[in-house]
Amino acid sequence: MNLAFPAALPTVPVQGSDTRFPVRRIYCVGRNYAEHAQEMGHSGREAPFFFMKPADAVLPVAPGETAALPYPSQTQDLHHEVELVVALGRGGRDIAPADALAHVWGYAVGLDMTRRDLQAHAKKQGRPWCIAKGFDASAPITPIVPAAQAGDVQDASLWLAVNGKERQRSRIDAMLWSVPEIIAHLSAAWTLAPGDLIFTGTPAGVGAVVRGDVLEGGIDGLGTLRLAVS
Ligand code: MN
Repeated sequence: MNLAFPAALPTVPVQGSDTRFPVRRIYCVGRNYAEHAQEMGHSGREAPFFFMKPADAVLPVAPGETAALPYPSQTQDLHHEVELVVALGRGGRDIAPADALAHVWGYAVGLDMTRRDLQAHAKKQGRPWCIAKGFDASAPITPIVPAAQAGDVQDASLWLAVNGKERQRSRIDAMLWSVPEIIAHLSAAWTLAPGDLIFTGTPAGVGAVVRGDVLEGGIDGLGTLRLAVS
């Protein structure tokens, strides 16, 4: 066996540039919009909690492209979750909320694709979510928009449509935990570093897609992404 291979570092294009953003880790926030927490059977504001996807779960989608989203194995209930993605350009630990935005390199639109049936089973059994959340191509993402060009992301809306029918729409500021608060909490648990992506949670309206469906999602000022389930 030849181990003299460096595995290729996953990267995501940067909007308006030939450079690419190298992905170190993908953190995800659970239940960060009240109405989504309710549709998943929870109420009230709980402390933020996190799970991860492997860095090579990213599936970069170019503007104007309809990318192929492979339907994963072992599920009959593949769900879409449209999310604001935060890309870090500076790391650190125990970052104060007031300092957190200085660590943000840019933003993107992402999908936290979920094998919902396996997640429900894992919850019932008290098992980890890896198989439900961290599968291949489970993190479709637009090019990253540098923060200075992204406008006021907190004031934007995010949305997702399936076959032209809107299923999810919310203002970003409906998040239970804001981007600075998320970074503060994450950096208390892990040392953050440049290249980390944070999927910041999804609003209500998650649901299943099947082969042949076309998903389109977007955030004001950050663009849109389009995928066909294959
Ligand atoms: Mn999610």
